[in-house]
Amino acid sequence: MIIVGGGVMGCSVAYHLRAADPTLSVAVIEADPGYSRASSTLSVGNARIQFSLKENIWISQYTFEVLERFAEEMAVEGDAPDVAFRREGNLFLVDEAKRIQAEEALALQKRLGADVEWWSPAEIQERFPLFDTTGLVGGTFGPDDGHLDGYALLMGYRAKAISLGASYVEGEVAEIRVMAGKVAGVQLATGETFASPVVVNCAGAWAAEVAATARVRLPVDPVKRQVFVVDTEVKPETPLPLVNLVSGLYFRTEGDDRLLVGKSLADDPVGFDFSWKERRFTEQLWPELVEFAPAFDRLRVVRGWAGLYAVNRFDGNAILGEWPEVDGFYLANGFSGHGLQQAPAVGRYLSELITGQTPTVDLSVFGPARLYEGKSLDESEII
Ligand SMILES: Cc1cc2nc3c(=O)[nH]c(=O)nc-3n(C[C@H](O)[C@H](O)[C@H](O)COP(=O)(O)OP(=O)(O)OC[C@H]3O[C@@H](n4cnc5c(N)ncnc54)[C@H](O)[C@@H]3O)c2cc1C
Repeated sequence: MIIVGGGVMGCSVAYHLRAADPTLSVAVIEADPGYSRASSTLSVGNARIQFSLKENIWISQYTFEVLERFAEEMAVEGDAPDVAFRREGNLFLVDEAKRIQAEEALALQKRLGADVEWWSPAEIQERFPLFDTTGLVGGTFGPDDGHLDGYALLMGYRAKAISLGASYVEGEVAEIRVMAGKVAGVQLATGETFASPVVVNCAGAWAAEVAATARVRLPVDPVKRQVFVVDTEVKPETPLPLVNLVSGLYFRTEGDDRLLVGKSLADDPVGFDFSWKERRFTEQLWPELVEFAPAFDRLRVVRGWAGLYAVNRFDGNAILGEWPEVDGFYLANGFSGHGLQQAPAVGRYLSELITGQTPTVDLSVFGPARLYEGKSLDESEII
């Protein structure tokens, strides 16, 4: 089996394949083993139960289970990874226009056993006096949600996969080789070839480029997203959960007393652009932040970075499974802004599909056939 891309998805798939069947030969081919551009490293690490599609909620429930035992299960020779999962919560603010959508999502989350609360504007104000709740009808708070270290999650899966016998190859896959409608292997940019009847596309924001070499067109674009870490003069009294404004602006406490702020903007450039522009924060995000939390009008931008979302232009959701027209070509693509938290379930699911087991959790709604059947999945892309 060949996995193209050794980010969190590739490593999770590799781990699950070897754990399921130690006789399988599994090679992960990664172009940038330092992971300086991988979205897994550049993510803000949020994990939340607050989705509106039941399969995404199941995925997060599994993630929370896995995170509880990750250190123990992924330890290699006594060396246990620390993903630093901090359950500081997620608060999604709701205005009248979003009320019905939020109430329906909350009802679904509760039906599936998730712990999510509805807070009135007065409750929000009481807990966070720095916030101005004008125009809000309330908010949904998930106390189990939180954030984790994406690089540590990736490296945890990677180290365990290697300890179980997966091999990692440094190289750039230039072509997926297909013969008579079946995958035959890959060719690297160096010309070296690897034969395999199964190739898994885990190339993140590069997924469409990789798929195109097998003549598969994926609606997945690399889109730059920027993140800013700021030091506010007025400090919140307690750590802030990830607060999601109705507009899509989000912020949370980062480290001891700084804030991490971000927002997906309609004019975020498409392409492999990693440049980071502080002006984006001062001109566009800061005024919006101050409107909601006036005390943050005095702050200093400390640092930040830009990374790529693999945006699924079709419906913002994962594309999982074998491409119907190329036997043996599997996809784990298009996670947009929520792939890190989906890696545990995606790795397990793809490994089950590839090894012919009945999936523990049915994630077939994410199957690639929906792309040409025109059946989009209804889930709002929140961050
Ligand atoms: C700013 C930002 C914030 C985010 N916040 C969150 C969040 O809060 N929560 C969340 O769940 N998700 C978040 N995400 C999304 C999340 O990071 C991704 O969905 C997830 O990391 C995708 O993992 P991946 O393994 O598919 O991709 P990546 O981590 O990008 O890995 C893909 C790998 O493939 C390699 N590759 C590409 N092409 C080739 C090739 N031809 N040959 C060999 N190797 C190749 C690349 O070098 C790369 O290492 C965020 C992303 C960004 C950028």
